[in-house]
Amino acid sequence: MTARRGLSSLNLTFLGTASAQPSLTRNHSALALRLNSDVWLFDCGEATQHQIQRSQVKMGKIEKIFITHTHGWDHIFGLLPLLASMLNGAGGTADGVEDPRTHMVQDSLDPIEIYGPFGTRAYVRNGLKHTHTLLGAPYVVHELRLPSDPPDGDHNLHASESPTGRNIPQTNGVWSDVYRDSIISVSAAPILHSVPCIGYVVTEAPIPGKMDPAKYIPHLKRTKTPMSAMSRLQQGESMELSDGTMLHGPLKRPGRKLVILGDTYDPSPIAELASSADLLIHEATNAHLPALDSNTKAEDTFESVEARTKARGHSTPQMAGAFAARIGAKQLVLNHFSPRYPGNDDVDPTAKTIMEGIAHLAEEHYSGKITCARDFMSFNVDVTQESA
Ligand SMILES: [Zn+2]
Ligand SMILES: [Zn+2]
Repeated sequence: MTARRGLSSLNLTFLGTASAQPSLTRNHSALALRLNSDVWLFDCGEATQHQIQRSQVKMGKIEKIFITHTHGWDHIFGLLPLLASMLNGAGGTADGVEDPRTHMVQDSLDPIEIYGPFGTRAYVRNGLKHTHTLLGAPYVVHELRLPSDPPDGDHNLHASESPTGRNIPQTNGVWSDVYRDSIISVSAAPILHSVPCIGYVVTEAPIPGKMDPAKYIPHLKRTKTPMSAMSRLQQGESMELSDGTMLHGPLKRPGRKLVILGDTYDPSPIAELASSADLLIHEATNAHLPALDSNTKAEDTFESVEARTKARGHSTPQMAGAFAARIGAKQLVLNHFSPRYPGNDDVDPTAKTIMEGIAHLAEEHYSGKITCARDFMSFNVDVTQESA
């Protein structure tokens, strides 16, 4: 695992943007967040490793995988094949005799960390076990538990599974700091879907403000250790010189805040945690586009489409826009589209018209920047400009 001193780049790459069935232009859900060269993956639908191979994301750099919910098809069916490839999986034996090399490797490596709801651990454990798959490096599953989740029934670890997996309880309805290091933290909260589902909030620690050397150097020259004094000021500290002069470092700026939601018809429980996000990623599975979508049924209305979308546990673009406005998000990215909306809007004018129509619906409730994700779309998340 790479130690991170600061984030020079924070990049998002959409590896899959389809709900339900994949299409020729959209694969199942997966999102890569690149923190400098490390990669964190959010969801891992079927064939995610193929998408990784076709992208700039390096499979060997994946450190952590966050699962929003255990709907197999479009969110987790790609996880076991990805683990097998990432961790040099090999076939085991039918009687369960382990390859002793597995333990040798496991003792010397940090495990790949997987976070997800109840069921994630059993899915990975049993999937590997019943397919006779041994991994050449360890993994661990941390489960974000709801009070209603049943207790663990199976304590038999897979040979490749680290025993350090945690069951993380909620505090005041959220999971705070499920991961934290000196420059980035991850918290989470439940969001409403047809099955238990999680939204993740990734927050960068406050960033040191810009130093104006001309302001400080004349004073620092009079100190015995100007370099260390400079570095303390750079971190926003204040110090008093021997002649009583007070020097104050520049104020820190807020770090970037990304909110990555899984499937939802109502993400209200995460609203407070997600407030003032620099970027919100929200699903928009179905839309009513009567003038644009030739598959529109004659009897459909905005109300009927929204009711049907909600009943299936999903959102319309208007619902996504309303939530982005509610939390004061600076930017909204829509994803998880019905396969009826082609994802080649960069080259196909008809697909472009449909995706613009979807963005316009979100604009009814939200005035910030709106982007409709397509597979392999990749961009850097900018640093917030306002001072603290
Ligand atoms: Zn889904
Ligand atoms: Zn789902």
